[in-house]
Amino acid sequence: MGKRLLYVLLDGIGDLQHPDLNYLTPLEAAYTPNLDAIARKGRMGMVYTVGKKIAPESDIAVFSMLGYRFDDSEYVGRGIIEAIGADMDVRDGDLALRGNFATIDSEGNVIDRRVGRNLSDGEASELVKAIMDGVKLTDATFELVHTKGHRVALRIRTETHLSSEITNTDPAYERHKGMGVAKSSYVKLRLAECKALSDDAAALTAARLVNEFTSKAIAVLSRHSINTRRKSMGMLEANCILLRDAGNRLPDIRTLSDIYGLRFACIVDMPVEQGIAKVTGMHAFKAGNMNDYELKATTALKALEHYDCVYVHLKGPDEFGHDGDARGKKMSIEDIDRRFFYILKDAMDEGICIVVTGDHSTPCIKKAHTSDPVPLLIAQNQRGNDGLNRFTEHNARKGSIGYIMGYEVLNTAISMMNG
Ligand SMILES: [Zn+2]
Repeated sequence: MGKRLLYVLLDGIGDLQHPDLNYLTPLEAAYTPNLDAIARKGRMGMVYTVGKKIAPESDIAVFSMLGYRFDDSEYVGRGIIEAIGADMDVRDGDLALRGNFATIDSEGNVIDRRVGRNLSDGEASELVKAIMDGVKLTDATFELVHTKGHRVALRIRTETHLSSEITNTDPAYERHKGMGVAKSSYVKLRLAECKALSDDAAALTAARLVNEFTSKAIAVLSRHSINTRRKSMGMLEANCILLRDAGNRLPDIRTLSDIYGLRFACIVDMPVEQGIAKVTGMHAFKAGNMNDYELKATTALKALEHYDCVYVHLKGPDEFGHDGDARGKKMSIEDIDRRFFYILKDAMDEGICIVVTGDHSTPCIKKAHTSDPVPLLIAQNQRGNDGLNRFTEHNARKGSIGYIMGYEVLNTAISMMNG
């Protein structure tokens, strides 16, 4: 068996100095002996995952980190990727969007974009069923599928092609050339009206249908018994669906094995990752729940017996960044070190090259994705190392790899492996 690559993306790992951590970043403040042992055998650098001034959503960031480049409006939009990941029937000309169950007040102000993050899968599926049964759209059909937690995917179909040139109703993200981009600051969020971005009839119809779906869904949700019960228990109501990242065509991209000549597998949790795995041709392994780190590490090592490159996406740190919880993010990193990297720390002796980086920064003081570059570590035995003893943003800035773009990471690792 030749050289193999374990590619670990820590979601939202990049951060900035935080007062709660004595002005260190969570990665700097965390006790990470296993990750640091790997770092001492490696070289470091910094990565602009999508572009220098882009605060990306995870989907486009992951595509970029796998080596894809999407110039001007080439990207199909997260909605399509989510729908594919959810095994929905989508065709060219359908409109597909990513949705969040959310809580709004009577004026349309967003109280919580994720219903307090405590909507159960059972509650969400029942609400989705109520909308499927109770909402009819004018001259259009739709399918709404619950994926995980507060997340849904929506597909709208008419007799004619629909355009994805429409704005989001989710006020936290904007659409730029098909990509979802986090807004830099959002203090007061309001449910937005969907607007067509051109005078094209296909865009005007798409926007009208999204608005019609949104108001009819709100009507069904506001009188649903699940929300009555949640309210009586002092919990937030799932009384709205925020939609974003419209797409209207199936992606036409090269598979990873075609690009690199390697066999790829991945370990995934989220529907959007399942969608990415499908369109890039990676074999997807399930390995327990989001925080089953031991199982993910052992599954990755097993997969490397049959695949050249295994990609693992760990969602853990990102949510703490969104919640502004620097101590929580530090603890999440320590947990990953203790239960995930502990198992992998000797894998380099087996000829495995370990790459550790992130898909974007989610600094706790910003509570959102930002354009700050993320630290990168590429480690393998018997190759030069940078003489840096910990994996941190501070050290990564001094690393010999320097500043590179997300689409260059895999090629950099592969040439180091062969070099
Ligand atoms: Zn992410």
